Amino acid sequence: MNDIVVAGGGPAGAAASCLLARAGRRVVVVERETAPAHRMCGEFLAGAGLDRLAELGIDMAALGARPITRMRLVRGGRATEAALPFPALSLSRRALDAALLERAEQAGAKVLRGHAIRAVGDGVLHIDGHGELAAPTLLLATGKHDVRGVRREAGEPADLIGFKTHLRLVAPEAAALEGFVELILFRDGYAGLQMIEGGEANLCLLVDRTRFLRDGGTWEGLVAGLVDECAHLGRRLAGAEAWPRPLAIARVPYGYVHQGVSAGVFRLGDQMAVIPSFTGGGMTIALHSGALAARCLIEGGGADDYARAIRRAVRRPVRLAGALYRAGRANWLQGPIIRMASWWPGGVSGLAAMTRVG
Ligand SMILES: Cc1cc2nc3c(=O)[nH]c(=O)nc-3n(C[C@H](O)[C@H](O)[C@H](O)COP(=O)(O)OP(=O)(O)OC[C@H]3O[C@@H](n4cnc5c(N)ncnc54)[C@H](O)[C@@H]3O)c2cc1C
Repeated sequence: MNDIVVAGGGPAGAAASCLLARAGRRVVVVERETAPAHRMCGEFLAGAGLDRLAELGIDMAALGARPITRMRLVRGGRATEAALPFPALSLSRRALDAALLERAEQAGAKVLRGHAIRAVGDGVLHIDGHGELAAPTLLLATGKHDVRGVRREAGEPADLIGFKTHLRLVAPEAAALEGFVELILFRDGYAGLQMIEGGEANLCLLVDRTRFLRDGGTWEGLVAGLVDECAHLGRRLAGAEAWPRPLAIARVPYGYVHQGVSAGVFRLGDQMAVIPSFTGGGMTIALHSGALAARCLIEGGGADDYARAIRRAVRRPVRLAGALYRAGRANWLQGPIIRMASWWPGGVSGLAAMTRVG
């Protein structure tokens, strides 16, 4: 009999499992992937997220994480820069998620890999290839994937498609990108670009479905359209080697904060709140929620205590990020945003700080 079952071994689930196992609780994590995998993510980590990782004993430098100190906001051929008001790093999710889950195991959590949870009902998990597992206390950390019986009520998400690829840029472009996170605005979407470990870069972008279809409904067509529109991105991508196929995602419920509480069910990470991804704050929410849930359980609190604490922490940053995200999606506002950012870079840094959790 396990004290606590954790559904999903991403940043949220792994963080909570590690802290609970360290406190002597019997924890089992059910993770559907058999091995570390690439994830849809800009792979930017900052502020309190880095503190949470240090508390878990994750040595980001040893994993090859790249420091990021500045932000470059780009539209067409125009770019403006601002200092980041918090420390930041970038590291591939494949490396980070593997290190986190390994930490949880080292702390004593049992990890069931390669088993997907199909449904949850009456405190019991129905798991592919494993049968049933009693979960009087369930930490639901399956990210954007909902599980039957405990689905979120995320409403109608924006009609956006997300893409991610890793790139090997030509040397001068990699050198120009080093130390920066670039936020590139284009018609009906935006992209994030930064170096990660191993001399590679991460390109992650979100685009309206209508724009994607106008560009031929293919990744190649979209990239050709973006390079045409944005000279800066064209320069970065010239001669770069990318994955044969990008990862893709649709229907992300940006701005969602879960409202209900079910006895014994703690929603962590994206199951609890989904902050617009341009903030690079999703993993910080995941790690922070994992730490809060663990602390709550260790101190004898219930799911309602935890839900109150995590909602208090995320409400304002998610709301502000939602407003900025809507402004950035209005094509006519992108020019004024860039002009304002070049007149007042301190304002950009300040807004970035206000979207952080923890
Ligand atoms: C386009 C885009 C860019 C982003 N960029 C950034 C960024 O730069 N920085 C940042 O901090 N955040 C970013 N995010 C957000 C970030 O990726 C998420 O907020 C974060 O991954 C949430 O962590 P999690 O642990 O809640 O979920 P996840 O990371 O999704 O982990 C969930 C885990 O559960 C497992 N799982 C799922 N379903 C089941 C099941 N049925 N049974 C068993 N296991 C299951 C999965 O395999 C996975 O391991 C971005 C998101 C998007 C969409």
